[in-house]
Amino acid sequence: MGFVGELVKQGKKAIGDTVKAGKKAVKDVTEETKRTPKNVAKLGTEALDLARNLLGQGLIPPVVREYFSYLETQASGKWKGIPSDLHSILSTYYPQVIMGNVRYAENIDTVHGMAITIDDQIFFPTSLDLYSPDSFGWLLHELEHVGQYRVAGGRDAFVAKYLLQGGMEIFTKGSFNVHDAVGLEREAIDKADRIFEAAYDKTIAHETVTLSEEVATSEAQHWRLKDLGGLFIIQNRRNDKVLDYGDMVGSNERVILFSEHPESHAQHWQLKDLGGYFIIQNRRNDKVLDYGDKIDDSHEMVILYPEHSESHAQQWSLQNVAGGYYAIKNRRTGKVLDYA
Ligand SMILES: [Zn+2]
Repeated sequence: MGFVGELVKQGKKAIGDTVKAGKKAVKDVTEETKRTPKNVAKLGTEALDLARNLLGQGLIPPVVREYFSYLETQASGKWKGIPSDLHSILSTYYPQVIMGNVRYAENIDTVHGMAITIDDQIFFPTSLDLYSPDSFGWLLHELEHVGQYRVAGGRDAFVAKYLLQGGMEIFTKGSFNVHDAVGLEREAIDKADRIFEAAYDKTIAHETVTLSEEVATSEAQHWRLKDLGGLFIIQNRRNDKVLDYGDMVGSNERVILFSEHPESHAQHWQLKDLGGYFIIQNRRNDKVLDYGDKIDDSHEMVILYPEHSESHAQQWSLQNVAGGYYAIKNRRTGKVLDYA
């Protein structure tokens, strides 16, 4: 007999047990209902008793298994791993999680509309850009749940433990929601809050893009434009990193060099031709390349700033230097894009 057959058999036995248990079962359900009246009211008493009996035997109720299958069916062909450059950073904070085993899928109907983590699989209801602060924070939260499964001893042990200990509210609405288990959720929120800043800083380890005097032989000042069809990735010749933006400086973003993630809109740039000069506009936030405060006597920081196309500080010429590379020269200062 296969596992499902065994489950059905156990289920039938459990129903039989429940009927025999009679008054006691009714009393249990009544108490449960008092604790979480709204959610439990949605479950039939028979289903609830079946769940409790299965759990008592270390088995997962069929409705939860169906829910897992529903998620997995949707995720088929959509799985992504955590990008390898994040593994060592995240492992520092989640030593119990094997980052290489964690998979996530985007745009999943999770029934309750929240992300759901099951063992080392994370189902997100929307798409993500793991290098953006919001998505990264969300990932941190769900990784804590991954760790909670590890600590509990895997999926089935985790589910059984928290359906019993956490009350039946995490087993409702035809779904299973770790986020409704108050203790687990508290840990995940606290952990993500506590480590976010330090962890995110590490993920955006980067060089600061500057304006510098032109040195024709410096490959740090040479840029390749990779055409995505109307939008460009702008890549540095010396280190192969690409223009992106990082933390805020005042109310605008610092422009940085970052490892290439072609799906990230923060790395996509539109070149708006003014006739000899270009406005270089970011796809994600529509701001444009400009320059800000001095870093030292000879370098300015490059920032993203709202577009004022008449400002020469936002106008750039492309000068062909060699082999498909360009120097990108600022109209107002005559200096070129470089990095520090
Ligand atoms: Zn949560």
